[in-house]
Amino acid sequence: MTSTETRGVRLQIDHVHKTFGPFEALRPVTVDIQPGEFVSVVGPSGCGKSTLMLMVAGLMKTSGGSIRIDGKPLSGPLTDVGIAFQDHLLLDFRTAFDNVLLQGVIRGLPMGPVRERTRELFDRLGLAKAAERYPHQLSGGMRQRVSLARALVLRPSVLLMDEPFGALDALTRLQVRYDLEQLWMADRPTVLFITHSVEEAVGLSDRVLVMSTSPGQVVEEIRVDLPRPRPLTLGEDPVLAEHGRRIYDHFARLGVIHRDVLGAAAAGAHAA
Ligand code: ADP
Ligand code: MG
Repeated sequence: MTSTETRGVRLQIDHVHKTFGPFEALRPVTVDIQPGEFVSVVGPSGCGKSTLMLMVAGLMKTSGGSIRIDGKPLSGPLTDVGIAFQDHLLLDFRTAFDNVLLQGVIRGLPMGPVRERTRELFDRLGLAKAAERYPHQLSGGMRQRVSLARALVLRPSVLLMDEPFGALDALTRLQVRYDLEQLWMADRPTVLFITHSVEEAVGLSDRVLVMSTSPGQVVEEIRVDLPRPRPLTLGEDPVLAEHGRRIYDHFARLGVIHRDVLGAAAAGAHAA
């Protein structure tokens, strides 16, 4: 079973919305994420998932609503946070290992423990051989794993991940998901995780927020009360499979997927 100890914070998103000029990118979203909770957002391309994430990170202004961290209004970029976006944004003139260490360097932390933690993460994420290589010498999947290590290295209280597994092949993706679950269970940061994989969302989360097509809004919230670690495929557990089916059903109603694919999807394929 999971430890209930958490280093996570409470993350309150209250009627947060975004317009770009006349364009409504995100309708008001309200969600109160508890310390140590793992919340996923699934939704079709362009529905405003990344926009929501950037606002929660404090990297983009909201058009209204409020974001509070442990009750305090967010007024600039989050600092005690690990961020892993699909665009990995690694520095090309630093090795993979040094890219991760940099998180400690810029904060002036004692580097012994940071180095040790980096080594542990590289081992765990299958990056040991990548340590001394530069980002351009790594595959897309490896760069994403480096980016995940960078997000986790300082054991942040909040973890924001925007389709962090997008460039991984199917098998690596399963392995990294398993690793992420383990790493999350160890520290229990509060997580906001964006994915277009229904299977990943249901498998990893305490709650899954399902978004509509653009302009996006949360149309359903699914609570997944199952012990961890969880099976890696929906078919291995009837409750997981049922949650998965509900989400696919939503996407069918929204016209994102055709009803014909539902049978196949429930067996474990990816949405979108
Ligand atoms: P998702 O991550 O769900 O695919 P995004 O949050 O990236 O969606 O984008 C939501 C919508 O807002 C899209 O239509 C996108 O083109 C638009 N958008 C995102 N960022 C900007 C921006 N800086 N300026 C104008 N439109 C934007
Ligand atoms: Mg996006």
